[in-house]
Amino acid sequence: MSRLNELLQQAGNIGRNEDGSITRLGFSEGYFQALELLKARMKEIGMQVETDPVGNLHGVLPGSDPEAKAIVIGSHLDTVIKGGVYDGMLGVTGAMEVAARLKDEGRTLRHPLEIWGFNMEESSILGGTFGSRCVTGMIDPDLPGYPEKLAKFDCSPEKVKAAKRDISKYECYLEYHIEQGDKLDNADLDVGVVSGIVSVIRYEVTAKGMSNHAGTTMMVNRKDALVGMAKLIVAAEQRARELSDTLVFTVGKIAVSPGQENVIPGQAVATFEMRHMDRAVTDQFYTDIQALAKEIPNCEFEFVNTIAKYSTPCDLRLIKLIDGVCTEKGIGHVIMPSGAGHDANPMAHEGVPIGMIFVPSVKGVSHQGDEYTKPEHVDIGADVLYQTVLKLDENGL
Ligand SMILES: [Zn+2]
Repeated sequence: MSRLNELLQQAGNIGRNEDGSITRLGFSEGYFQALELLKARMKEIGMQVETDPVGNLHGVLPGSDPEAKAIVIGSHLDTVIKGGVYDGMLGVTGAMEVAARLKDEGRTLRHPLEIWGFNMEESSILGGTFGSRCVTGMIDPDLPGYPEKLAKFDCSPEKVKAAKRDISKYECYLEYHIEQGDKLDNADLDVGVVSGIVSVIRYEVTAKGMSNHAGTTMMVNRKDALVGMAKLIVAAEQRARELSDTLVFTVGKIAVSPGQENVIPGQAVATFEMRHMDRAVTDQFYTDIQALAKEIPNCEFEFVNTIAKYSTPCDLRLIKLIDGVCTEKGIGHVIMPSGAGHDANPMAHEGVPIGMIFVPSVKGVSHQGDEYTKPEHVDIGADVLYQTVLKLDENGL
């Protein structure tokens, strides 16, 4: 087993549950145990290390040119409840392999190399990508109710503010991650060069009909809000398939009122979520859904937009660079969007050029105990990351 695979298994196994899955939530004991393990290893490699005020791991391998901006590689150290070994941890340990290999080969980069292991990337009451949003200064910790939420994790608005960095001194941000989908595994490819992170657009959709007695109201007289909602969901699902094969549409939550066995639902509320790289596609889809809703009888629909996080493109120069590294090494690869959000989002949001490298998730399984990436893919992805860093150091962006 390679050094990287060994470290990945050792650190990724912290928080192991009886059923084999991993629970290592942000700010938990297991989280800090993993952080300390990596911190000690970073010191051995000769990195300057610290835990920042919000529990992010931060390591620096100094470069030879004091003027050069830092090349940053990051990912997260937390998991979801009953998650797997690879999500997040692969990226941090893969970055450390880059630093270790530089040391093995006696190379000193011109640029400083910074490695971030972010806290609480997974969704929580503090919002997703918590650690990376603290570093980029995207959180307003004084918003009503937020200090109380922070206090639950022994954190505070002061700590959030103190974690902010001047990210204008970063050359770029790289993230190495498992795909978490099945495209690479199905196509038998080794690497995905990420073109960008797809949008997340959500609407709260309300169908209004009329509540009435379930026994005495004949079918012809009904205004059943749930039936109307069901028709709209089926029609929208069909439309999503027609519009684009990379458009995804999900109704993850639905509630009916009054919610009794013997009462026709007078109201149904559902979440409509759509994701795609291209805003024109999600805009078109939403327009089409509204038109479809108008054709459904006995029901009025209302739409409220609740989330509109538009897609985040990766930096074209980094896409080209990573693509070139893969081609040079004869690695089977494809340029593809990421369907999941990552710590790279906040970085890009604040103007740092981002680049991402994916390796296959067997059967596309992620966020659960069976999450698996083959050891050879773990090493191939880390090698691509290493070569990318060398080229960046030589030529800049
Ligand atoms: Zn992740």
